[in-house]
Amino acid sequence: MTTAAPDGRAGRERLVEIALPLPLPRTFTYAVPQATRHPLVAGSRVVVPVRSRRVIGVCMGESDGRALGSAKAKAILDVPDPSPALGPDLLALARWMAEYYVAPIGLVCRTMLPAALGVAARPAPAGKSERILVISEKLPTLLARDEAFKRAPQQRQLYELLEQLGGRAPVAHLVKQLGCSTSVVNGLVKRGHATIDEESRTRDPFVDRPAGAPPAVTPTPAQRAARDTILAGAPGSAFLLHGITGSGKTLVYLQVLERLVRDEGRSAIVLVPEIALTPQAVDRFRAMFGDLVAVLHSGLSDGERLDAWRALERGEKRVAVGARSAIFAPCRDLGAIIVDEEHEASYKQGETPRYHARDLALIRARESGARCVLGSATPSLESWRNAQDGRLTLLGLPDRVGGGALPEVRVVDLRQELKVAPPHEKARRLVLSAPLEAALHERLERREQSILLLNRRGYASFVQCEGGHVATCPDCSISLTYHRTPERLVCHYCQHQEPAVRTCGDCGLPMARQRGLGTQQVERLLAERLPGARISRMDVDTTSGKWAHTEILDRVGRGEVDILLGTQMIAKGLDFPNVTLVGVIDADVGINLPDFRASERAFQLLSQVAGRAGRGPKGGEVFIQTRVPTHHAVRHAATHDYVAFVAEELPARESPAYPPTVRLAHVVVSGLDEVAVADFARVVTDWLEEANTRFSLGLSVLGPAPCPIERIKTRWRWHVIVKATKASALTRLLHGLMGGISLPAKHDLRLVVDRDPVALL
Ligand SMILES: [Zn+2]
Ligand SMILES: [Zn+2]
Repeated sequence: MTTAAPDGRAGRERLVEIALPLPLPRTFTYAVPQATRHPLVAGSRVVVPVRSRRVIGVCMGESDGRALGSAKAKAILDVPDPSPALGPDLLALARWMAEYYVAPIGLVCRTMLPAALGVAARPAPAGKSERILVISEKLPTLLARDEAFKRAPQQRQLYELLEQLGGRAPVAHLVKQLGCSTSVVNGLVKRGHATIDEESRTRDPFVDRPAGAPPAVTPTPAQRAARDTILAGAPGSAFLLHGITGSGKTLVYLQVLERLVRDEGRSAIVLVPEIALTPQAVDRFRAMFGDLVAVLHSGLSDGERLDAWRALERGEKRVAVGARSAIFAPCRDLGAIIVDEEHEASYKQGETPRYHARDLALIRARESGARCVLGSATPSLESWRNAQDGRLTLLGLPDRVGGGALPEVRVVDLRQELKVAPPHEKARRLVLSAPLEAALHERLERREQSILLLNRRGYASFVQCEGGHVATCPDCSISLTYHRTPERLVCHYCQHQEPAVRTCGDCGLPMARQRGLGTQQVERLLAERLPGARISRMDVDTTSGKWAHTEILDRVGRGEVDILLGTQMIAKGLDFPNVTLVGVIDADVGINLPDFRASERAFQLLSQVAGRAGRGPKGGEVFIQTRVPTHHAVRHAATHDYVAFVAEELPARESPAYPPTVRLAHVVVSGLDEVAVADFARVVTDWLEEANTRFSLGLSVLGPAPCPIERIKTRWRWHVIVKATKASALTRLLHGLMGGISLPAKHDLRLVVDRDPVALL
């Protein structure tokens, strides 16, 4: 037995630095006992004592013990795994994330590992039973529903949520989602509308879902050229695959992986925005690689996720397909990382560490010598700029596979609709214009299907005149938000304020506050105007329903739905040949969000949804209803012209400067007391401005101002926006802020830094 020398640890004692899941930006020094269960190396999980608890951490490397001072290092209790949980590339990624996102290293490591490995030294796969609520009585019409739930609105909410989720869902999930008590569940069961099933495990739909045989397809010359360029690229090189909707980006991914995974025996990660929304894409990977594919989705239990993770670690599975956290899949000998729909905001994590999976993909590919392919029909402006600057190699797929034409897009000017509609029809025509309604009738007669997009209005309301003009901030070029008391218009970036006027300064027409329109309202109107149509709703509210979307989409695929009505999520990845009509109920909603990316998001959404029509030989037609037919997001979406859109949008990001012209950090102060939040936001701003001047960092600090979403779950929110031309200066400032400012211990004040935010809401 050897023990530490009494005069210090310089002698024989081995010390290591451990990252612990604590919100502190540092590691902790521990001593390594002579004998451990398994060898301890950088990346190994360890069990260590913290006060009287046993905590799981990750070894970051050897230590010189300097941080200990005169204290004695406590000994590690266990090294539970035979091999490191984080390989060298993931460990490098963890360090990069902690530095770049100003996130505690221990929390970064915990995020990278499956949940089960964070709580138990040697977790067993879980298999506990679950209570499932199942609809037993169908209430097909709204009338029957009004009757059945006359005095039970909560039961109705529950019933409709359950219906959205495909008719069966775990009780715990439903109760959490609605925030209701289990008595509502019991009420629904008692009245015979639903029953309760005990199920031994969360059902994984991909287990039963037949993968099918890979379709025998010959790549087009453009697809072949893209594949060859990617395969010829140096290890660590990155590509932007810009292909219009329907141009066959997935086939390029498959062909790249066929070479690297099947022929060369390497592994790959495929990121998709949301697994539940892209079952068709996932099926294609499973069809080609069968059992080599691990689908990492949010519906997995902790035990199932751990099983998948271990299988990838051992190399039994070599293709990890999943949403953003799949970027941490423990694949060895990584040959490629694919990021499909790279522009999607869902790649950004909303909590600490606030990473962007697309950016991590580039870093991890570089660390591991893999090729990185970012694919999109409407690339983010950041990636487009990177391609222009040569940091990404640009590859193009300019044509639809099979020579199919992009659908005809008709822009319906709602101002015109208002003018010609009889007075009693005006309100209805703003939702369902005469041309769109006629087109829907036509589809019903021809037994073809339609998709209607209702981009719901958010939390903030803007004012728009009947001529389509919207009040915007003179300094920030974002829409002003309407406030009722006192009545005024406010910029949520810089606090600019102006009175809410009754008539438009541009054209003199009356200004009106734009109010929300719910999917239920629209569904009712559709049922009234198109009796007999089979209408299905897909809501953003029900996203967490694990497989609801897959089931709704399967129903559309089987032709059991005439009209699919939904929010943004219906725009993604769908490919149904019998959908020949797509309607956008109100394009202006997205365009006028108080966010600098509003136009870009609107263009992406309109392009994506327009791409849903006409996937089959019958062709397709798209209607976009708007009051601003001349807005560049509408005009270029109508002609499917991404490059023209970018040519107008990029200059607009130069003055005032927004990404990709500058780098951003979003600093948010929140708390229970509005005044305390505003005061502390001022303190933070002063600190940032002073540091910026003292160290000549050359950044610009904007604010403080209330966030466009001023309050979330009883917490008031204020923000400060920092713009930088150099990333390193921003990193320095943010680390200084998090380490240098003391948070007043009152009103539950919190300070959050979001680097490269996807929205400033
Ligand atoms: Zn402003
Ligand atoms: Zn006007």
